Order: sequence, then structure tokens, then C-alpha cells
Amino acid sequence: MAARDASRPAREATPPHVRWDVAVAGLGPAGAALVHRLLRRGLSVLAVDPRPGAPWRQTLGGWTRQLPSWLPADVVGATASDPVIRAGATYPIPQQYAVLDNAALARALDLGGAVVETRGVGDAELADLPARVVIDARGSRPGDSHRRDDRARPARVPLQRAFGVLVDPEVAAPVLGGASAVLMDWRPVDGAPSWGATPPTFLYAIPMPDGRLLLEETCLAGVPGPDHADLRERLRHRLNRSGLPASTVDEAAARSDAEYVSIPMVRAPRPRGGPLRFGAAGAQHNPITGYSFFASLRAVDDVVDAVAVAVRDGGRPRVPDRPPVVRQAALRALLRLSPDDTLALFDAFGRLPADRQWAVLDARAATPDLLAGLTTQFTRLPPRSAVGLLRATTF
Ligand SMILES: Cc1cc2nc3c(=O)[nH]c(=O)nc-3n(C[C@H](O)[C@H](O)[C@H](O)COP(=O)(O)OP(=O)(O)OC[C@H]3O[C@@H](n4cnc5c(N)ncnc54)[C@H](O)[C@@H]3O)c2cc1C
Repeated sequence: MAARDASRPAREATPPHVRWDVAVAGLGPAGAALVHRLLRRGLSVLAVDPRPGAPWRQTLGGWTRQLPSWLPADVVGATASDPVIRAGATYPIPQQYAVLDNAALARALDLGGAVVETRGVGDAELADLPARVVIDARGSRPGDSHRRDDRARPARVPLQRAFGVLVDPEVAAPVLGGASAVLMDWRPVDGAPSWGATPPTFLYAIPMPDGRLLLEETCLAGVPGPDHADLRERLRHRLNRSGLPASTVDEAAARSDAEYVSIPMVRAPRPRGGPLRFGAAGAQHNPITGYSFFASLRAVDDVVDAVAVAVRDGGRPRVPDRPPVVRQAALRALLRLSPDDTLALFDAFGRLPADRQWAVLDARAATPDLLAGLTTQFTRLPPRSAVGLLRATTF
């Protein structure tokens, strides 16, 4: 008989009710990507979602370099090279931005072979799912990532909110001003040199898979920050200043060519010993940008490796499942910064070298790289805003 490898923990006896290697709660894009890759690894998977197969209606945008090579090229519905940031001046970000074709993505993330149960699971049931490893991919907050009505949320949850409209390229041309896309235009909507006491928001203008452009006014993070009606009014002003008729926003909204974004920026603490979280629920959530999906795609195979080891040896998969502390601190600082210091901060971001910008944008950047990016950004602030940022970070 072969001796057991002493460096490896003994596999716990499998309880009789355990029928799958892995159970995944949540079949949003991140949960589906995870299930897909677990199946490709030869693991048996139970997936649980109250609405499996429901179309993903949220825009899924991010950086092309984060997309894994196994994903077919047709999932990329639109791209923009060197999108710009506008603050004190205009700065191109030397990366390619991509927006996914959600239907092609769903086809690429084939779940054939998984057992899919149509139901929701609460925290208590999650741990009892009959699998050796359980993963929580239920999104930023179970059941609510795409809801339009924020009134039921606890008042102190920081939110990213946005309101956007879809318009034809010729309509959007004056807003783009020759750029392929605008990642953030932080200039005040009324053309004033400063935001004064008004909470700042930015314009996001990107090409969409259907050939139109999404023009969206966004509050990066607020408690609660401007609501959707306020954002819509700001978008109206901003587009009007670029020469678009004031009716552009209302006409698009009347055609339902509108997007309402509401993303909780913090996560409830994971109960001690609770299941690994993945996607918007886990370490892939970037508290500085609110985005998570491209980081989830980039991380998925590392998570599958760790899950395969845990299925084999027992224990918890050894991968991080919450955003780094530094990013959480950066979010707290953003929430406290004055409007004009926020504008200065993003102007400094635009002036960073490309590798430092990338460390801030990439949820998977190593902490030293992230710290280097944030520190360089700090050193490029005017003295008054540097003091403001120090205060916002430390008090
Ligand atoms: C309008 C909008 C635009 C966005 N744009 C972007 C973007 O451009 N780029 C980006 O990266 N992110 C964007 N986001 C954030 C985006 O939602 C997430 O990045 C992405 O959807 C996260 O995927 P996920 O699978 O982790 O979570 P989710 O998409 O939230 O999926 C969670 C899944 O869990 C299921 N579920 C919920 N409760 C339970 C339960 N109790 N039991 C079992 N299953 C449950 C849900 O039905 C859902 O299928 C946007 C969000 C919105 C609302």
C-alpha cells in the first residue's frame, strides 16, 4: 500500500449527503464563468440561482488585457483604444477598453454538465449545500445588483450610481471630441471652473456592441450621493453644453434606451468560516471603480486551481476573497474628499505613468504596486489637495 504524503492534510471523510465537488450560489456572469471553468476542470458542480439563464442586462465593460485567452473573441462587442480622462486637461489612458456582448458571453460560458437548481439560498443554507466546496457568487448584495429603487437600502451603504442614455454615434460625436471613448470627464457639468460644494460626478461615454454610444453621468461613490433623477438632470446639462439638444436625454429615456446603475461599494463582512466569495461578492470587486467582472474573468482559473486542491484535500480554497485593505481605505478617502480635491485627484491620475495607472485600475494588482500607484498620484497633487487627501485618508 502506498504511504500517504505526510505534507498533505488527510482528506476528511465525505458526509453522506455530499453529492457534488463544488456548489456555486449565483449564476451572474462571475458565477457562470466559475461554473464553466470548474466543469472544464472535470469537477462536478451544483449551481443555484433564483433566475438561472436570465439575460444579463448590465453593461459589462473593462480592460481588454484582463480577458483570458480561453474566451472566444466574439464575446467582445465593442472596443475603444486610448480612452481619455478629462479633468484639468485631457489625458489618454494607453489601454484598450472593451464592452462585452452579453448574449455571446452567456453562450461562451456553457454550463452543460452542471446541475442547476432554480432557487435562492440564504446565508444559513449556503453552508449546507451538498458539496465539498461551496462558493458564494451571489453578487454585491444578494438579489439586488440591478435594482433601480434604492430606497429600501440601508442609508449608510456607499453606492456608485449612474444614469445613462444610448445614442447614435453622430449624436455623440461632439461629446467625444475626437476621442474613441471618455472613461471619465470630471469637469463640472455647467462649465464652471470648480464644483464648489456640489458633489462631483463624471461623464462616461463608451461605444456599445449595437453600434451606439452610452453617455452616462456617474457618481463614483456616495453616501448616498446624487440620485438617478439628479444624475439625469446633470447629464442633460452636460450634453447640452456639448451642443446636443436638451431633448436628447428625455427622448432616449422615453424609448427605454436608458441605463440605471446602482452598485453597493462595500460588502457585508463574511461570517467567520463562511464560504469563499467570488465575483462582485468577493476579492474581484474593486472598491475604487465599482467594477468586478473583468477581474473575475482574469482570476477565475486561479480560483479553480485552489478549489480543485480543496476538493482533493479538504479545507477552504486558499485564495483571497475580499478586496485589499488599501483599496477599501482608498474608497473611504474618496467618500470624504472635497469636490475640488476629487477633481484634482483624477487630474493627477491622468498624469500618472501608464504602469502606475494600471496598478490603480486592476483589482488584482499586488499591494506594493497599488501603493506605488497611489503614492505617485498623491505626489502629483497640488499642495492644498494633498493636505485634503491626507485628512480624508487619516481622519
Ligand atoms: C447597470 C449596471 C452596469 C454595470 N456596468 C459594469 C461594467 O461596465 N463593468 C463591470 O465590471 N461591472 C459593471 N457593473 C457591476 C456588475 O453588476 C458586476 O460587475 C457583475 O454583474 C458582477 O457579476 P457577479 O456575477 O459577481 O454578480 P451579479 O451580476 O450581481 O450576479 C449575482 C447572481 O446571484 C444570483 N443570486 C442573488 N441572490 C441569490 C441567492 N439568494 N441565492 C442564489 N443566487 C442568488 C442573482 O440572481 C445573480 O444571477 C454594472 C452594474 C450595473 C447594475
